[in-house]
Amino acid sequence: AQEKSGSIVASDVSKSFGEFEALGPVSVEIGEGEFVSILGPSGCGKSTLMLMIAGLLKPTRGSIAVNGRILTKPMTDVGIVFQDHLLLEFRTAFENVLLQQEIRGLDRAATEKRARELFKKLGLFGVETRYPRQLSGGMQQRVSIARSLVHDPSVLLMDEPFGALDAISRTQIRHDLEMLWIETRKSVLFITHSIEEAIGLSDRVLVMSNSPGRVVKEIRIDLPRPRPAYLGQ
Ligand code: ADP
Ligand code: MG
Repeated sequence: AQEKSGSIVASDVSKSFGEFEALGPVSVEIGEGEFVSILGPSGCGKSTLMLMIAGLLKPTRGSIAVNGRILTKPMTDVGIVFQDHLLLEFRTAFENVLLQQEIRGLDRAATEKRARELFKKLGLFGVETRYPRQLSGGMQQRVSIARSLVHDPSVLLMDEPFGALDAISRTQIRHDLEMLWIETRKSVLFITHSIEEAIGLSDRVLVMSNSPGRVVKEIRIDLPRPRPAYLGQ
């Protein structure tokens, strides 16, 4: 069995689209169980960086290792919440989450059990058979979070997961996600352009700037929140 550590090491990663230098070089390290936010203006390359860490986009230069292994293709041990949640319209909420089982060839019964647990924890109980179009933006984002977690990845990448939501569902989802995270303590890379969100949720905030996107500042935050015993105080 593969060791579940949840570490990310991106070393001097840059990305150009043709002549256009979109990002970098940037270096990002995330340790086991760490919650790291990336804060930066629109267009500074946050999504580009996340897609490269997810193994869905190839860096122009530099390398990325997840759990100590250099990425050459998308890794199964990563969960992704995309900026516009990317749910399939012709599948119900539950079927969208079970897509992970089909793509990754996981055990059906175990995945369904986990999906049901996540639906309960994420306030989705009762919407299993609804289609994305029948759900509010907040509920769709909850389904997309359930999909990102159903295969129990050690690393969770979230691209502005609350970006399109109203203040109330934003606060509620954020709370549920925080509880879930405290319980499972996955390593998280959280992209946002809200300073308040970054500071309220993270152990560390990486601040990026534009043209080309770079990490210009790193802020360590001491959060007064419960930590699992094995990590100490
Ligand atoms: P952010 O997520 O921080 O808003 P992105 O990573 O989406 O920024 O984009 C960074 C820059 O790269 C932007 O200028 C964007 O227009 C450009 N870009 C992103 N993806 C592509 C692509 N596939 N082809 C060309 N340019 C792109
Ligand atoms: Mg983006």
